[in-house]
Amino acid sequence: MNRREAIGLIGGGAALSAMAGPVGAVHRAAGWQAAAGGDDGGYDPQQNMYVLPPLPYAYEALEPHIDAQTMRLHHDIHHKGYVDGLNKAVEQLSAFRAAEPGAAGTPGAPSIKAVERELAFHGSGHFLHTIFWQNMAPAGSGGEPDVNLGQALERSFGGMEGFWKQFSEAAKAVEGGGWGLLVYEPVANRLMTMQAEKHQNLTAWGVTPLLVIDVWEHAYYLKYQNKRADYVAAFRNIINWTDVSDRARMAMGVV
Ligand code: MN
Repeated sequence: MNRREAIGLIGGGAALSAMAGPVGAVHRAAGWQAAAGGDDGGYDPQQNMYVLPPLPYAYEALEPHIDAQTMRLHHDIHHKGYVDGLNKAVEQLSAFRAAEPGAAGTPGAPSIKAVERELAFHGSGHFLHTIFWQNMAPAGSGGEPDVNLGQALERSFGGMEGFWKQFSEAAKAVEGGGWGLLVYEPVANRLMTMQAEKHQNLTAWGVTPLLVIDVWEHAYYLKYQNKRADYVAAFRNIINWTDVSDRARMAMGVV
């Protein structure tokens, strides 16, 4: 049973589980953890490698809000680059472990620090994009927050409008490239918004991303040029609230 099927049994996600059906992760039996992006097809246990998950809809499905050419470049080129970089970093770390103890290191080989940096950069890129594709749906088909998520938005932000104001302003104000995120914070059992400037740099350990918006220029520049605000506004039309609700219930352990 994969994550989607599990959620489908819990109720509410049946349509989505039929739609998503990605590669991999069928092997994760019940007892999956509420980890970010858990079973979204970003890893193939057969190959023991990270893989590019297929989009859960056609390239043009999000138009006019996000155009097909942007989606094609973003998914096929940019996201694929993160997957390849992550697999390479994992491979390099394996080589480090296999090296002779006390060896000074192979001349020309990257330092562990450099590889860890690559691991963080490409790993964050892969995991966040994997959530991002699932976080969106063709306009009009993304549903509404379920009861659990609705209550969490209420107690954390005073409701949907308070959430959107905080989330969209944070996304627009990210310096340089990065992400806006809605995350679950388990200490106080509430939701927070975060900015990720260069996604490998900042995080709060323990939070689980629920809704993420890519505000690197490659995500919107073809269609929106420097008008990030217009892109963020358009994003609201294609949020997949069914997916976000699924993630919130899993993170919060709500059955
Ligand atoms: Mn991106």
